[in-house]
Formats: sequence, C-alpha cells, structure tokens
Amino acid sequence: MHAIFLYNPAVVQFDYGRTHPFRLERLWLVDHLCERLGLFAGEHVARRSFEPAVREALVGAHGPGYLDALETASLGLHAPAMGSLGLGSGDNPVFPALWDYVLHTAGGSLTAAQLLLEGQAQRVFHPGGGLHHAHHDRAAGFCYVNDVVLALQRLAAAGRRIFYLDLDAHHGDGVQTAFYGTRQVLTLSVHQDGRTLFPGTGFLHETGEGEGEGYAVNVPLLPGMSDPEYERIWTELVEPLLEAFAPDVLVTELGADALLGDPLANLELHLSTWWRFCRALAAREIPWLAVGGGGYDLSNAMRAWTLVWMAMVGAQPPAAVPPPPEVLPSAAAGMRWPGDFWSAPAAVESPWRPGPEAIDALIADLRRRIFPHHGL
Ligand SMILES: [Zn+2]
Repeated sequence: MHAIFLYNPAVVQFDYGRTHPFRLERLWLVDHLCERLGLFAGEHVARRSFEPAVREALVGAHGPGYLDALETASLGLHAPAMGSLGLGSGDNPVFPALWDYVLHTAGGSLTAAQLLLEGQAQRVFHPGGGLHHAHHDRAAGFCYVNDVVLALQRLAAAGRRIFYLDLDAHHGDGVQTAFYGTRQVLTLSVHQDGRTLFPGTGFLHETGEGEGEGYAVNVPLLPGMSDPEYERIWTELVEPLLEAFAPDVLVTELGADALLGDPLANLELHLSTWWRFCRALAAREIPWLAVGGGGYDLSNAMRAWTLVWMAMVGAQPPAAVPPPPEVLPSAAAGMRWPGDFWSAPAAVESPWRPGPEAIDALIADLRRRIFPHHGL
C-alpha cells in the first residue's frame, strides 16, 4: 500500500493570534516526530508538499459572496457584513494572510483526494486539514473553508461511495450539512454532547433527510466518557456500519481533542485506544484519506497524528518519544514534551463519570434509528 504524508512547511507561518488555541505549530511537530522516527523512509512511503488551492476550487462548497468577504477581510480591509459571516470574532479572527492560509488548507485536502483518485496512493494523511465546522456561507469554530467538504465532493463527483468518520470532540456540523440529503456519503460523528460543547448540534435525531435518511449518524457522548464507551461505540456502531456500507473510500477527521487532557473538551479517550482504532482502520485496507482537525494539547496532537501515520505505514510506536529538538517553533517552545506515546498530560479526570446505562441507552437508540436503513 502506498502512503503519502502531505505537509507544506509554509503553513506554520500562519498564526491565528498569540493567545488563540488553534496552533499551526502542531503540524511542524508531527512532521518533525515522524521524520525523527524514520517514518518517511521506505519504498511505499512518501512525504510531499502541495500547492495551495485556487479560488475557483472553493466555489460550490462556499458561496462567492462569502469568499469575496474572506478575501477582502484578509487584505486588512473591512468587508461588508463580516460579523454575520462569522469573520473577525475571537474564534475566527481575521489575521494577516488568512486568505493564503485557507487556500493552503484546502489545497492539501484536495491534493489528498486527487492522489487517491489517480491511484498514486491508497492512504493519504493531511494533518493540516479537518476544518469541519466551516459552513457554505459562514466561518465557525476556527474554520473558514471546509477542506473536508471539498475533498469529499471531489471523491463523490468521481462516483466514489464514502464513509466519513469524524472522531473530533466537536460535532462535524459543516460536513454533515453538506451531505445530509445523500446516501453516497455516510457521515458518522462521535463527539461531545452538543448541550455541553460547541457547536451545539449532532444529536441522535439528526439522521439525514430524503434519500439520505439513515446516512447521517451522530454519537453524542457525555463529558467524562472514556475508553470503555469508545470501545463499545467502535464495536457496536462503527464497525457494523462500515461493514454494511462497504465504502469505496474511507475519509476520517481525526481531531485530537477527544483525548484526555484537552483544554477545550471534556472527553477522556486515551492514546492507547486511539492507536487501536487507527490500526483497525488500516487493517480494512480500504483507500483511506485522513485529515487532522482540533487538538489543543500540543503533545496529544503530535502523538495522536504520529500514531495515525504509523498505522498507515505499518510501523510500531517505540517505547519512548525521542527527546525534543533544541529549537521548537513559537508556541511549541513552552509545551510539555512527552516521554512516551501513551501517557495523558497532567490533567484532572472528570469527577463525575456517567454510569454504564448511559452508553447502553445511546447505543440502543442509535441502532434502532440507523440500522434498519442498512439492513442491520
Ligand atoms: Zn474539535
């Protein structure tokens, strides 16, 4: 299986702002660690850069008026109705070269889709992608342009049936909306309950519409849910649906913010279970496009995405994480460097853990709503 890691070093120059939690240094870190561990060496493995997208490639996933505003705002000019387009808020600041940044993000995920379609690789990882909250005409949740929707649209236009799995702690709302009425793309998002976390959607009753009924699946987890709950969701929902849907392509949004210790979410997934899921996906040998996403603890994001790439190339994590390089890029300079791949950051676990009946009820409800649409 050929695997390609997509990384354009230019992305690290972009900055949402000194105090913003979305750190592009994460991409430098995962690239560094993979390189350090020799994970780009080998006959069937490559790291490649990519070109930014052109504006025309974004039209369709986004309206021209919104794209105009985004482009104007990033020149430092005031665009009409910026606020109603989600631009210029604390979450979605207008920063220098914003337009360039969104073209880079989109370019990576579009390149990933193209490489799969051309058969140049069976597995492609673009850790800089995964901006799953951007809407057709609105920025949201640190996301301006939805690179995931763009990649999925390209794959769907080529006739592929796609299973989209989103493990980010936040509901993959922008992606769900774009494919809500079709059965060509099944979207399955496992996230923290919208009553307790942005974006406030992704409830059980959101199951798709029209011919897409039963092809949007939402698994809202309560704060404090951890590996036992994730394991059950994996075996009792994800695997049977993946089996029944039998996709041509698997696309995964692997935001690392569901991991224990993330400062913006309250789920408690451990890296050992994350690794098991990555290996389970790789074992299916379906063409696989993975993107990153959220992940606000730098050491979690760095390790989680290195593990994704290890699963893609069939490598095993070493006992220890190599020591940090002498110089780390800006925000990463203050990070707590991990000693191994598995330990959680020093974080307080939730004082309240939902009992087993909560996950029983959640799984039973979803199986009742969704499984009949898939002959299960
Ligand atoms: Zn997230």
